[in-house]
Amino acid sequence: MAIQRFKALEEVLNRVPVNVELPKPNVSDFYGENVFNKETMKKWLSDNAYKSVLSAIEQGTKIDRDSADDVASAMKAWAMSKGITHYTHWFQPLTGTTAEKHDAFAQNIEDGKALERFDGDQLVQQEPDASSFPSGGIRSTFEARGYTAWDPTSPAFIIGQTLCIPTIYVSYTGEALDYKTPLLKALLAIDKAAVDVCQYFDKNITKVNSTLGWEQEYFLLDTALYNARPDIMFTGRALFGHAGAKGQQLEDHYFGSIPERVLAFIRDFEIECYKLGIPIKTRHNEVAPNQFECAPVFEEANLAVDHNLLLMDLMEKIARRHNFRVLLHEKPFAGINGSGKHNNWSLSTNTGKNLLSPGKTPKTNLQFLTFFVNTIKAVHDNADLLRAGIASAGNDHRLGANEAPPAIISIFIGTQLTKVLEDIEKKVKSGKMTPEEKTELKLGIGKIPEILLDNTDRNRTSPFAFTGNKFEFRAVGSSANCSGAMTILNTIVANQLIDFKKEIDAQIKKGVDKDEAIFKTLREYVLSSRKILFEGNGYSEDWVKEAKKRGLSNIKTTPEALKIFSRKEFIKLFEKNNIMSEREQHARYEIQLETYTKKIQIESRMIGEIALGSIIPSAIKYQNSLIENIKGMKEITSVLIPSGSAVKASKKSVLADGFEYPESVSSSNGNGQNEMISAQVDTLKKLSTYISEIRTNVYKMIEARKKANNLHDAQEVANAYCDHVKPYFDAIRYHSDKLEFILDDELWALPKYREMLFTR
Ligand code: ADP
Ligand code: MG
Repeated sequence: MAIQRFKALEEVLNRVPVNVELPKPNVSDFYGENVFNKETMKKWLSDNAYKSVLSAIEQGTKIDRDSADDVASAMKAWAMSKGITHYTHWFQPLTGTTAEKHDAFAQNIEDGKALERFDGDQLVQQEPDASSFPSGGIRSTFEARGYTAWDPTSPAFIIGQTLCIPTIYVSYTGEALDYKTPLLKALLAIDKAAVDVCQYFDKNITKVNSTLGWEQEYFLLDTALYNARPDIMFTGRALFGHAGAKGQQLEDHYFGSIPERVLAFIRDFEIECYKLGIPIKTRHNEVAPNQFECAPVFEEANLAVDHNLLLMDLMEKIARRHNFRVLLHEKPFAGINGSGKHNNWSLSTNTGKNLLSPGKTPKTNLQFLTFFVNTIKAVHDNADLLRAGIASAGNDHRLGANEAPPAIISIFIGTQLTKVLEDIEKKVKSGKMTPEEKTELKLGIGKIPEILLDNTDRNRTSPFAFTGNKFEFRAVGSSANCSGAMTILNTIVANQLIDFKKEIDAQIKKGVDKDEAIFKTLREYVLSSRKILFEGNGYSEDWVKEAKKRGLSNIKTTPEALKIFSRKEFIKLFEKNNIMSEREQHARYEIQLETYTKKIQIESRMIGEIALGSIIPSAIKYQNSLIENIKGMKEITSVLIPSGSAVKASKKSVLADGFEYPESVSSSNGNGQNEMISAQVDTLKKLSTYISEIRTNVYKMIEARKKANNLHDAQEVANAYCDHVKPYFDAIRYHSDKLEFILDDELWALPKYREMLFTR
């Protein structure tokens, strides 16, 4: 009821910032203290076991039984020294969040005594009875066995009273049921493919890591207000709400000073991040009111993904201490900017080089150009797949809404590199090239880094932008597990590098000089990938038209995007590179469709519930009070102005009691009584229209839902929810927002935009 809204507001106004202090004088004194990292391992492990883990991390070798036992007992001892009582395998099921099932170290032994136990078996593999996780039909609930297996490349860590061991999650028959397994395979694929290509340039390169630096955007909302908004509680976004007078139009929030209460929260979760070795570095206000961003220093992709998931989990937990709720939804508030998670991506070598950083010598320049152009070609050839990888119900609100990259995938590379590619097009000849010509081309690339890195040549409207020494994939949703996008990106680039190597080797075999073969092949790639390169404003209408002319896809909805996963060419791509079998891919595709459907279904139900149970009743109360008012007006005016008697027109109408009425209310002709109540009658009519529009649309929406639910194919159900259920959302919201605008403020039950976004 309305009362809850005012109670919530009062609560918020009385909040004070929670005091947060560093646990030790300097961050470096406690950084990583809750991680079983290399340093800790060295201290707690035998030499043999340490070497074994290190080589598993660095070379991907297997860890033998004895070493696993050693590692387990060291982990246990370390954890117990910190008062930890439980352990869990920590994994990433396809629900999108992380999962954990805690077991106590302590086990009963005879004579009613207990002993802490944790050995190699328990470390390496577990069989959680996880029958309720989505499996897309791979694992039906009656054969519930799936197992988790230790991923030694991501270190174990402590949260609360529990030792968490990062694991993959697979079905009993070996199919991946999580996000981590295919990511690890994609990282392996790109490692191998990139190392092979590096051999043309530098024989010392034996390992290539994919790096990821994510930037996480989020909104904060006070707990009391959050609790008074069931739509936000259950769907993560406001399904109703008239735009406030002030939104983000003054652009006064971006990089503004961080409010004290918010800063206390940020400091608090940063401290927890540091303890867990998450290298959080940047924090600032974002564009929208109540929107913020944080970003760490980049890391190896698998670790970066784990750290992002941990961060999202930590933020949500710690926010509660500060009476905030974190909204990770891509579009919590219609009308103001939504949230994304930029994925900065590059490739780094065991020799300490960034393969996407233009070099200083001709040799490293050609290496840079090779990886740069191959990435462009990979994105060009698989743009639809990349689009599919970022599809979600939440991200549909953001892509192409003039605040985030459009749903059209294109690449921005900046003027300098555009020029380099033009040079290659023009100067690489079909005949034999002279050594001078080759050197000239290689040197042309040398001036790039300083220019690009100083930030002047950036395009923030591009979904995939080169930013000097990395690509920034900017279209990923804020709530997403980065694994989805990273698995696809690393797979398509790996696949492309393999093709490239085949091509070059074939030419070398025919007697073509290596550099010449590389230049010629890159030139062909540049020519055939041209249409994906776009330097202009990605938010403009013109680009939509231009992209259409170029034949680029503009895939607007999630069901349409997910359908891409069923294309033969892409199924083959994942199979060929040993990332996922067809069965695994199909399961994933179904799960994502179902997730989409369920999200829209929940939103639709919530809209119905709130519209019928709260908004319409409030409107009826107001209606009643107007009716009372009109009745009263009629009574009083029939005494004061007998029906039919005309009041003399004058600038100000003065009634018998000498009270002056403003002109609009007073009667200037004919029927004085009706004129006096016409404003109320008018409002009354509006109320009735809005109420009936809302009610009619809600019932139509329910009908559409019923029809959709009767379909059997997951793609068809998702399509129906998208095309036939979702369109009612806007119609219902439009009329209900009108009601919010004209209703007595005292009667409105849901906290308003101005209260949610500006009260703190
Ligand atoms: P912005 O894009 O906001 O201007 P920066 O360019 O400073 O910010 O960096 C954004 C993110 O890119 C950071 O998280 C940073 O760690 C990451 N990053 C920088 N270099 C790399 C790299 N080689 N690989 C992956 N991520 C990187
Ligand atoms: Mg950025």
